[in-house]
Amino acid sequence: MNEARTGPARIIDGKASAARLRADIARRAQALSSRHGITPGLAVVLVGDDPASEVYVRNKGRQTREAGMQSFETHLPATASEDELLAQVARLNVDPAVHGVLVQLPLPRQIRETAVIDAIAPAKDVDGFHVINTGLLASRGTGIIPCTPLGCLRLLREYVGDLSGMRAVIVGRSNIVGKPMAQLLLRENCTVTLAHSRTRDLAAECRRADILVAAVGQPRLIKGDWIQPGASVIDVGINRISITTADGPATRLVGDVDFDEAVRVAGAITPVPGGVGPMTIACLLSNTLDAACARHGVDPLSLDAPEAGGAHSASASAT
Ligand code: NAP
Repeated sequence: MNEARTGPARIIDGKASAARLRADIARRAQALSSRHGITPGLAVVLVGDDPASEVYVRNKGRQTREAGMQSFETHLPATASEDELLAQVARLNVDPAVHGVLVQLPLPRQIRETAVIDAIAPAKDVDGFHVINTGLLASRGTGIIPCTPLGCLRLLREYVGDLSGMRAVIVGRSNIVGKPMAQLLLRENCTVTLAHSRTRDLAAECRRADILVAAVGQPRLIKGDWIQPGASVIDVGINRISITTADGPATRLVGDVDFDEAVRVAGAITPVPGGVGPMTIACLLSNTLDAACARHGVDPLSLDAPEAGGAHSASASAT
């Protein structure tokens, strides 16, 4: 399927793709506001003081506002009970200004993630984790799609094009990345293999892939000689490792793929950082815009049509 190649892979620039997507969302949010008087609203709930989660939530809030949407942020203490969090979710579920509700994971130990995910109104579940949405994706190819796999799919469509008939191997079977990624690639008519920690001969499975998606959480697990020459590699992993620099010990982010080896073999590859990561928040905004449209019966594609007396560029539909 892929041409054998000897040169370095094309770098899949997720940062640039995400910037284009956010600009497109901002333009459509503006059209939704000016033509229909609707401002999409995203509510993010953070429980506790996990520094990484605080950074994610801050970034989400900033990018939501930059896209012309309303951002509602709630911060509960690390000691908050499950009932307190469920009460907050219930309030957001009925708030007409809120079109998307996201509870930042992971949660403190006293709160069951499944209880919280089950409590979010499916129409506002912009993370796409509610069983109604996972069921819709699995059985009908519809519903609100989890942001990270949706971002991966957008990158593949942009850089590879038609995926039909390709062999896709996904390493990792989590509910938030691996499983929905498999459903999406099946929907694109790929032949899909979902590998995990019990897979026998993972390297051989990976070598068969025209499209290889790594969502494992193990730094540089996937080596260059596990990759079919010319394959498209999407590295979802974000791992912080310790390194030694001239100035002493430091840390850096690496993916699940050994980038330096893989870039010599693959046809196209996402870097870490700057690949999948930026697409995740952009897709969250896109899901929020779509949820606002669905709530008010507006066809999202109609927002791309030129307004009387003005011109808009056409954009691809969200999913
Ligand atoms: P997760 O829930 O921990 O799942 C990891 C998966 O990898 C599991 O299915 C596990 O198999 C499998 N696995 C672990 N070790 C393996 C091995 N040695 N060989 C084969 N499979 C192995 O992780 P996740 O939430 O999907 O996240 C995966 C990575 O993506 C993490 O680095 C995370 O930080 C990153 N991530 C990035 C974004 C983004 O926006 N870029 C978003 C989400 C996650 P079993 O099921 O058999 O245990």
